[in-house]
Amino acid sequence: MQVYKVGGAVRDRLLGLPVTDVDRVVVGATTEEMLAQGFRPVGADFPVFLHPKTGEEYALARTERKSGRGYGGFTFYASPEVTLEEDLIRRDLTINAMAEDDQLNLTDPYHGQRDLEARILRHVSPAFAEDPLRVLRVARFAARYAGLGFTVADETMDLMRQLSESGELQALTAERSWKEISRALMEDHPQVFIQVLRDCGALKELMPEVDALFGVPQPETHHPEIDTGLHTLSVLEQSSLHKQPLTVRWACLLHDLGKGLTPEEEWPRHIAHEYTGLKLIKAVNERFKVPKDCQELALLVGQYHTHGHRALELKASTLLELLQSFDIYRRPQRFEEFIAACEMDARGRKGLEQRSYPQADYLRGAAKAAREVAVQPLLEQGFKGPELGEALKRERLKALKAYKEAATA
Ligand code: ATP
Ligand code: MG
Repeated sequence: MQVYKVGGAVRDRLLGLPVTDVDRVVVGATTEEMLAQGFRPVGADFPVFLHPKTGEEYALARTERKSGRGYGGFTFYASPEVTLEEDLIRRDLTINAMAEDDQLNLTDPYHGQRDLEARILRHVSPAFAEDPLRVLRVARFAARYAGLGFTVADETMDLMRQLSESGELQALTAERSWKEISRALMEDHPQVFIQVLRDCGALKELMPEVDALFGVPQPETHHPEIDTGLHTLSVLEQSSLHKQPLTVRWACLLHDLGKGLTPEEEWPRHIAHEYTGLKLIKAVNERFKVPKDCQELALLVGQYHTHGHRALELKASTLLELLQSFDIYRRPQRFEEFIAACEMDARGRKGLEQRSYPQADYLRGAAKAAREVAVQPLLEQGFKGPELGEALKRERLKALKAYKEAATA
């Protein structure tokens, strides 16, 4: 039996990038032979094994055939007769369909190296269209390698467009989609992921709420870029430039969804978009079974981002309500992420990327002032139960008034 490194490990080595996870393909072996050598079987769907010592993945060479809708609709065929070339042709992109042996001899039947040099993301074969997840994967690779100058081949875009129009993307499970979406948002150029999905018509299928933002104008005085979709892409870009976590990036993507619902007569203003957007944010969250922390932050940022921008003008009582809504006493980190999302929103405007955002420190200071109100003296005064809560609120309000006066003096 022969063992080859495949996929990302080969691609990233040739690009001169660090290789983190290594996938291997085994040609000429049976499951029984693998087990006899101590490999541990994993993968309910395919014959994949973990190396007894290194824990790395070894998959038997296999061919695949589409037998129905969605990913479950695949039958595979693994046997010692399946060749390396046959295994490689079922892969998504030419740059992912190269293999190398221990001596670094490259097997590259589909010209992945040529496409690497030309900086092109190109599908390997028409079988690409058999798994709609590949639309998201290509967009994710575009987001990862945009900095190196990679773009999607025209004919691959055509296939992605056909797949999107066919409605097949609807057959993807929430789990598979979210895995790609969340990874793509953490890439260096997450805005490219959304842009590519939009260009091939997949965004309209997956997140019509985000797609609807393109072509919706905002007031030029606040938003020199005008278009709400372009603004959203810029906010995402900022979130990556500022190395924000997934929660913040997800909130950035969804913060303005309400603007897609504004009646045209009201353009370019978007009164109460913070509230109208909430049901859309909820729908997208649920569609992809998004993790709870991402769901929560997206909803809070959606509802309160304009509060963040107007922080210095907010009355002390409104400021207190904001802090209470975030439960800053038990969830300090979440409020920090809210502040970060607001700042990315402010910086995601054409020509204003470098402008300072004093609201951030102001909000941090307000949270600190509210948190520093001590409970002990109130307990000593005999407050308990709901009255204690009221007294605490009064003291916090006092503290915030003092803070506001001092900070804006
Ligand atoms: P990463 O650096 O993100 O791990 P990768 O290319 O190694 O990138 P994996 O998801 O680890 O991506 O998959 C390993 C290889 O398996 C890919 O390079 C590709 O050849 C193939 N592959 C994975 N998923 C698919 C798919 N849905 N359709 C076709 N080929 C796939
Ligand atoms: Mg990999």
